[in-house]
Amino acid sequence: MSVFAPSTDTWSQPFYEGLAQGELRYCVCAACSRALPYGARVCRYCDSAGIAWRPAAGAGRLCAWVTYRRGFAPEFPPPYRVAMVELQEGVRLLLPWQGGAEDPLRQGAPVRVTVESGRASAHLA
Ligand SMILES: [Zn+2]
Repeated sequence: MSVFAPSTDTWSQPFYEGLAQGELRYCVCAACSRALPYGARVCRYCDSAGIAWRPAAGAGRLCAWVTYRRGFAPEFPPPYRVAMVELQEGVRLLLPWQGGAEDPLRQGAPVRVTVESGRASAHLA
């Protein structure tokens, strides 16, 4: 078993079911329909505890990234990158970065999030 195998619960199960189906999902408030950050249990706008999941388009922009030059797990040999991406729907995710760990990047660059084999990752659009 991978050290990165997610431990799902009732709340996160729809997210991982989406990944298994090749779909990136984000959560919204079921009462006011505003996008919520991953992990939200209560809407920050209206205090509703109703959370719904919607498919994300996969488009966004690059907010930040880090390049790891030391390996922490065999699944991610160094160097590799992890990126914070803001989806066009308004939520941010931390994702593995596809592409070279030394490629020049620019904050705000358009990115795409893809889902393959149950895992999401980001790359330049
Ligand atoms: Zn709400």
